This record gives sequence, structure tokens and C-alpha cells, in this order.
Amino acid sequence: MKKYDVIVIGAGPGGAHSARLLAKNNLNVLLLEKYKIPRIKPCAAGLPYHIDEIIDFNFDNVVNLISDTTIFTYQFRKPVKLKAEDVKIKMTMREDFDTLLARESVNSGVKLIDEISVKAVEDNANGCVVKTNKDVFYSDFVIGADGVYSITARSLGLLKDRIVGWAINAEVYVSDKQLAAQENAVNVEMGIVPNGYAWIFPKKDHLSCGIGTALTKINKFKDLLYYYLDNHPNTKNYKKLILKGHPLPHSYSVELVINTERAVLVGDAASVVDPLSGEGIYYAMKTAEIAVKHILKKISKNLSLDNYSDEINKTIRSDLYYSDKFARLFYKFPKLTYDLGVANPIVNKKFQDLLRGKTTYKEMYEILKPIYSNKFTQATLKLADKIKQKFIK
Ligand SMILES: Cc1cc2nc3c(=O)[nH]c(=O)nc-3n(C[C@H](O)[C@H](O)[C@H](O)COP(=O)(O)OP(=O)(O)OC[C@H]3O[C@@H](n4cnc5c(N)ncnc54)[C@H](O)[C@@H]3O)c2cc1C
Repeated sequence: MKKYDVIVIGAGPGGAHSARLLAKNNLNVLLLEKYKIPRIKPCAAGLPYHIDEIIDFNFDNVVNLISDTTIFTYQFRKPVKLKAEDVKIKMTMREDFDTLLARESVNSGVKLIDEISVKAVEDNANGCVVKTNKDVFYSDFVIGADGVYSITARSLGLLKDRIVGWAINAEVYVSDKQLAAQENAVNVEMGIVPNGYAWIFPKKDHLSCGIGTALTKINKFKDLLYYYLDNHPNTKNYKKLILKGHPLPHSYSVELVINTERAVLVGDAASVVDPLSGEGIYYAMKTAEIAVKHILKKISKNLSLDNYSDEINKTIRSDLYYSDKFARLFYKFPKLTYDLGVANPIVNKKFQDLLRGKTTYKEMYEILKPIYSNKFTQATLKLADKIKQKFIK
């Protein structure tokens, strides 16, 4: 019977990064991935610039393009262009980025097995048991980095208090003229997707376009994407399109338990997607980093893994709580939020700081709330009045 120090389930950004960091700390690590690597993950694959703080090796060869411009619109009108040399988004393709992360983990000593599906995870008094469709493996610890449907979370009873939205990404091939017209700009369209937005992320030879919503189900969701593509000058009459959807999980709780005695969850399995932007890669890798720190402390000082859940709740989740507040405001009053928020230089400067990694959602909320609360209160009262007039006649 071969026993590992840690088994990591899922070789996405959360899993591959965890596995590599553990191996660099001289642990014996097994990384299990359901699909053959390279595997395709539906994703617009925009990386915030501050991801550089977590990745300590050169990954320029998988950066496809760098964008320093974002153009917001509301129902294709009222464009707001934000350009800043130091607010950049690194565009990648997930099959390239994730393969590099997996390869780096193997180079650090991780044993990787792909095309193997984990069916159950047990956390027993003296160790963990990981049952797969091919074999049974044993370890002292498990990291569940197995995404939104996490078998680790389900097996260990940790799938709780979360909201699962939905997003579709399409790799869209357009004419050379349209690709050139897009330049290196990201488009964010805020007026056509209920409780969400539509996007275009520029890539070297095509455009990654999509829609995302915090709602669990929208009828004819795909039609909204086609509507967007057909009406945007840089995507209409596209030549080819490859489309894929995937859920987006976030949690509304700041007291979530994402550990047992010997197991922890990271990334989408831990529901740490940003509710406002849908960004999850940075958070998957950051939770991986924090999880590894706590596993090392458990090994060296026998400190409980409860400290991992506590740290995530006090840091990442407490901040995403405020992102959720912004998101709810936007869903309730999309037009007002656009006019008072996106189109307002005070607000969009703060958002740029957020992209720079120089401020937090909480800080932003505290600064903006006194400026805007009165306007939104008045709008809420107006809305309540309208509803009253409609129903009480
Ligand atoms: C349409 C769309 C667009 C997005 N765009 C962006 C973006 O531009 N920027 C951004 O930061 N985020 C974006 N996200 C979010 C981002 O994709 C996720 O947050 C991120 O992939 C989470 O990483 P992860 O490692 O936690 O999980 P995943 O990347 O989902 O990896 C989980 C891995 O576990 C494997 N696995 C699952 N079950 C098992 C099993 N039973 N046995 C073995 N292996 C298993 C899976 O095959 C997968 O490889 C987007 C999401 C969607 C849906």
C-alpha cells in the first residue's frame, strides 16, 4: 500500500498550485485529475496583474495578450473607456496556463495521474482514503481542488451555503478587420444579461466572448450571448464559434467551514469566486497558498485545520462579502448603478485600484457608501412606490 503525505484532487489552478507548493516543502504529493491534460476549462482566462505575486516562475510564454483598456457599455450605449498603463489584465488560454501549472508541479516532484476520476474521499482517524475509478490511494491529508461539483466537498459534507450562478464562454473567430478594431481592449456590457454581464476578452487570434449571471437558471440563456455577438460590431457575422458553459460558485456566508480534521477545500470547491466579476483563478491559487501554509502548520505543530477556514473567512470571504453587496446593488438597479457608478470617475478610479490590488472591496464600500446611499435609498423608495401603485388599486 503506497501512502502519500498529501493527495490533491483536481489539476486546475487551485490543485496544481497547491501540489507544487507542498512538493517544494519536501512532501510526498499525488495529484489526481479526471481529464487528460491538457484539458479545456470553459473560461475567459483573464488574469489580474497581481497574480504575479503568487506565481514565482516565469509564465510569459502562456500569456497570449496584455490588455490595459476596458470599455464598459450599457445596452451598447454610453461607453466608458478606462485605460491605465499599470492596470493590466494578462490574457491566457486555460489549456496552456493550466498545463504549465501542472508541469511545474511535476518538475517540483509531484506525482501526477490524469484520466482518473475520484469517486469518494474519507477522512478517518489515522488518515485519508481516496477511492477512484481505477485504484484506492491513502494519505495523511487531502486537498479538494476539484471545482464546483467537488466530490471531496460532497463526500465530506462540506458543500454548504453557496450560490451557483452560470456562465458561458465562446471562443469566437472573427475577420482580421474586426480583430484589429478590438485592439487590446476588454468590453464589458452591463445592460443585457439579468444579474450579470457580457464580455469580450481579446486574444491574439480570436476573441473570448461570454455572458455570466448570478442566477441559477435563465431561460434561453445562450440566446443572450448570440444577441450580444450579433449586435457588437467586432463579433457580428463571426466566422467560427466554440461555445461552452460552466457553473460559477460563491458563498454568502462568512462563517463557512471548508475543512475537516485532515482535508481542506480550495478554489471553486471552496466557493471563492468573486460574485461581482466572476473572477476565480487568483482566488483558487491564493486559497491554495493559504491551505498549504495550514497543512504545514498541522504537520509541524499539530495546529488544527480549522484555522484554515477561519483565515479564509476573515480575509478572502469577508472581502467578497462586500463584492456581493456591490453585485446585489447592480442587479437591483443596473441602469442607476451604471450612471452613478461605472460612469463616475471617483468610482471607476477605485475599481482601477482594485484591479491594481491596491484596495479591497470592503475599503471601496466604506468610501462609496456615504456618497451614494442617499441616491440608492431614494431609488429603492421610488421602486417600492411603483410596486405599491401596481398592486394596490
Ligand atoms: C465561462 C467562465 C469564464 C470565466 N472567466 C474567468 C476569468 O476570465 N478570470 C478568472 O479569474 N476566472 C474566470 N472564471 C472562473 C474560473 O474559471 C474558476 O474560478 C477557476 O477555474 C477555479 O479554479 P479551480 O482550480 O478551483 O477549479 P477548476 O479550474 O474547475 O479545476 C478543477 C479540476 O478538478 C478536476 N476534477 C473535478 N472532479 C474531479 C474528480 N472527481 N476526480 C479528479 N479530478 C476532478 C476537473 O477536471 C478540473 O480539472 C470563469 C468561469 C467561467 C465558467
